[in-house]
Amino acid sequence: MPAINDYKCDNCGFCLPSGWGGYMYVIDDDGKRIVCPHPREFATVAEVLGDDAPPELVELRTGFNSYCLCLECLKKVELDLDRDLRECPKCTSNNITSLSELVGHSCPKCKEGTIKEIETGMWT
Ligand SMILES: [Zn+2]
Ligand SMILES: [Zn+2]
Repeated sequence: MPAINDYKCDNCGFCLPSGWGGYMYVIDDDGKRIVCPHPREFATVAEVLGDDAPPELVELRTGFNSYCLCLECLKKVELDLDRDLRECPKCTSNNITSLSELVGHSCPKCKEGTIKEIETGMWT
């Protein structure tokens, strides 16, 4: 079970979504990505794809969305880094970084602090 962490700038307090960087999703028949809530991800997958969905179909229709941040306009976006183009839907910048890549780097907002991973002591 992963721990829940907060991501915060140690200077200005700029906050990123807490949790563990993203979530699993399943694509329904309309092409929409449905969030699979933890810890019963596969119950949602079975609901969308059917109980006896073959593994190849599950493989094809599930993925992992990561919380990302546009470094230009600070928009928070959710992207499947294996499938999606790294492009900001707001300003079309390609300067997108995932949350885990931001940890230990300088804060995109104040440019002075560092993004720190803070353990909340909670578990999912
Ligand atoms: Zn900051
Ligand atoms: Zn942007």
